[in-house]
Formats: sequence, structure tokens, C-alpha cells
Amino acid sequence: EKLAVATVASHTALQILRGAKRFGFRTIAVAGRADAAEFYRQFGFIDEVWTADFRNFVKTAEKLVEANAVLVPHGSYVEYVGWRQALEAPVPTLGCRELIRWEADQYKKMELLQRAGVPTPRVYKTPEEVDRPVIVKLFGAKGGRGYFLARDREELRRRLAGLGEYIIQEYVFGVPAYYHFFSSPVYGRVEVFGADIRYESNVDGRTFGWVEPTFVVVGNLPLVLRESLLPTIWKYGVQFAKAVEEAVGCRLAGPYCLESIIRDDMSISVFEFSGRIVAGTNIYMGYGSPYSVLYFDRPMDMGERIAHEIREAARRGRLEDLFT
Ligand code: ATP
Repeated sequence: EKLAVATVASHTALQILRGAKRFGFRTIAVAGRADAAEFYRQFGFIDEVWTADFRNFVKTAEKLVEANAVLVPHGSYVEYVGWRQALEAPVPTLGCRELIRWEADQYKKMELLQRAGVPTPRVYKTPEEVDRPVIVKLFGAKGGRGYFLARDREELRRRLAGLGEYIIQEYVFGVPAYYHFFSSPVYGRVEVFGADIRYESNVDGRTFGWVEPTFVVVGNLPLVLRESLLPTIWKYGVQFAKAVEEAVGCRLAGPYCLESIIRDDMSISVFEFSGRIVAGTNIYMGYGSPYSVLYFDRPMDMGERIAHEIREAARRGRLEDLFT
């Protein structure tokens, strides 16, 4: 049977499956709920819409293998099935699967960025060390909920009382910028593909300073970077891919993202990464990323870029280089 590309019906599934179909693959969307399944069924580029119980994703993964499918993971996949099942699911999964374990731990995550030699916000071990505004991230915080800002040590002490595990980080002043990369085993290179910013309630909302800042993502906006920033950003992307290979021990094949703040002196501080496709790539679905033309002389979105890589790897008998 022809190779199928499968993903969980949410996040970037439309982009991934549309791209896969355009490059000749069969496509499967796995939905967790009937209303999601109904929504995805309307699109002609999706061959099969399955419904599954994400609490037992291993079983679904076995069925995907029987259907000769490979899985493209994304943030909602990891969230819905949980990182333990995502590590175990017996289906070929794009990229470095072991990285999911590192991402589940705030400290390991930052450690990896530091190993990559990418500048990161200062981390404070105790509130006593704090000498400037900080952002506190509770473990297990999701979608920016469970973060708070503290102006100084006093405010921090007051607000930390009775909280569980957390990490205290320097609050970096500047604009957020999220960089999309593609690591290509086929071409042996890292491509800087595009960038976005997030539209977040309540930091981007009309709150007139009346409410606490929160960082709940509502959508994404396109960002075209100053060209003078690109060499540095690309270099950070390359360094990060190398660090993953060395520290985690597997190849970061496919899309990934570095999430940063750019200060007014143009210096960059990376506070987070994603080892797989980010929803911010949806901004160029269907018409291609701003930088894809530089590599392929035609626009490609991230779904198409993934499909292109899988097709080329298959042609060269190198599919093992992409999946773990
Ligand atoms: P993801 O969806 O990628 O898991 P998240 O929603 O859990 O992320 P982050 O993306 O880590 O949370 O951060 C949310 C917001 O907090 C970011 O948009 C960023 O603006 C802000 N932020 C995080 N860390 C810092 C920092 N050290 N300094 C300044 N702002 C920060």
C-alpha cells in the first residue's frame, strides 16, 4: 500500500495533510472527538478521518502501522496523547522523538538551549538572588497560564508563597519573535523558514493596565525579520540542531522552532523551543513561507516542505533518517 502521512486532527493538521496530499501521499487525520472528525471530513485532501481514544493511543499507533502510515507529531498531539505515550507509540514518528522527554522538564529544556550556545534569559535558583523583574513559570503550565510577573524580590516572595514547583527567569524586555526552522537530512542543512509572533490575551488585548498580564495564545501573526538578523538566527538554529544530536542522541529531522525576545539593542534571548512544527507556521499555509523561495525558488509552506522531504528521502531509500 502507498505510504500514508497521518497526524492528529488539530494544530497544524490541515497544513500537514494538505502538503502530504500535494506530494502524492495518502492522508489520515486522527480525531479525538466526533465534532472534530466532522470538521476534517469536509476536506478532499484528507483520505481518511479516524476517531480514536487518545488515552489508548498505542492501539491507534498499531493500526497506523498496519495502514503503512508515518506520523507527523505536533504540539497538540503531544498534549492530547501525553508525552509518555508519544514516546512509546509504535509508529514511525518524524524527528527526534526522545526530545519530547526533555521538553517535559523545564530545567532540561533550558539546559539544552545553553548547550547549544544560544543566549537564554538568566535563571534564578532562589528568590534571594533576584535583582530585577522576573517571570515565574509553574511546572506543567500550559498555554501561558500559570505564568506571572514580579517586579522585584518583595513582590516575588509574596506571590511565591504556597506554590508548587516553578522556575524563576529574568523577564526580558523587548518584542517576541518565533523562528521556524527545517532540518533536512536529505540536503544536509538547516533552513530558516519563517517567523511569527503570537497574539496573546491579555498582553496584546485592550486591558488598559487593569488586569494581570497573561499569555494565552489566540492566534499567530506573520513576521518578516530585518535581514540583518537572519544570519544570527540561522546560526542559532544550526547550533540547536547540533546540540540535540549531541546531547539527546537523535537527529532533529523536520520542523522545529526557537522562541525568543529581541531587545532594543537587537540582542536575542531564547526562552523556549519546540522540537516539532509550531502552529505559527499556519500563517503561510497555501502560499508559502517568506524564505522558502530562497531554497527552492518557489514558495512552500511547512506542510509541503515536510512532504517534499519525505518524498525525497523515500526516493533515496533514506526514510530511516527522518523517523524515530
Ligand atoms: P508553548 O505554547 O510554546 O508551550 P507557553 O504558552 O507555555 O509556550 P511560552 O511560550 O514559554 O509559554 O511563554 C509565553 C509568553 O511568555 C511568551 O509569549 C513570551 O512573550 C513570554 N515570556 C516567556 N519567557 C519570557 C522571558 N524570560 N522574558 C520575557 N517574556 C517571556
